[in-house]
Amino acid sequence: MRIDIATLFPEMCERVLDESIIGRARKAGKITVNCHNIREWSTDKHRRVDDTTYGGGMGMLMQAEPIYRCFLDITKDMAEKPHTIYMSPKGKLFTQQKAKEFLTKENIFIICGHYEGVDQRIIDKIVDEEISVGDYVLTGGELPALIVTDAVSRLCEGVLSANVCFEDESHYNGLLEYPQYTKPEEWEGMKVPPVLLSGHHKNIDDWRMQKSLEITQKNRPDMYERYILEKEKKD
Ligand code: SAM
Repeated sequence: MRIDIATLFPEMCERVLDESIIGRARKAGKITVNCHNIREWSTDKHRRVDDTTYGGGMGMLMQAEPIYRCFLDITKDMAEKPHTIYMSPKGKLFTQQKAKEFLTKENIFIICGHYEGVDQRIIDKIVDEEISVGDYVLTGGELPALIVTDAVSRLCEGVLSANVCFEDESHYNGLLEYPQYTKPEEWEGMKVPPVLLSGHHKNIDDWRMQKSLEITQKNRPDMYERYILEKEKKD
């Protein structure tokens, strides 16, 4: 999988993407993630990429042309147009389901907006979908693009070590994950639930499922209801 991020702040993205699991996966060639500075494709002598909005308004807007030139240049050798995403608070909400869907794409091109966003015409011209990371507004699309890149990359083969089972993780199967414990067996007077020390796999699985249901019902009643409805349909 290859992800290209078009941004005004490539160093900010690189700093995050160079670290930890994703950094190691990039170095090992398990995933390719490139960050591109949109300013390099500006034809303005001061490398400007933004201007005032038509119709009035306070903020500045990123112009379509530098983003388009960046897109054409970066994708010129690709056999097919990459799946193109604009990070936007107006977009569809990013979920684990979306991450799994993006995993099926060979190439993803992510556009990070800044200021008041981007000229609508670049969205109309090249964007396949607008994606939001939540119902709040950030200053730029870099953190959202990093969230999408991280969530998708960790699903790529060879990125996580073989003993990490993401099928058990929160959101993967429509439930939140059960509580987990590590050594010591007792800490600050709090003991690890005895069932987890029993070695009885069926009982451990049942306990984990019960806890997953409880925590999902408490923290995400919307997910819980969806899960129960789906289960009733299947049964
Ligand atoms: N004027 C825009 C609006 O009201 O929808 C908000 C622009 S925001 C200040 C600047 C940029 O940050 C956006 O172009 C987008 O790329 C990014 N951004 C902000 N919040 C986001 C979110 N929740 N999800 C994804 N991207 C976001």
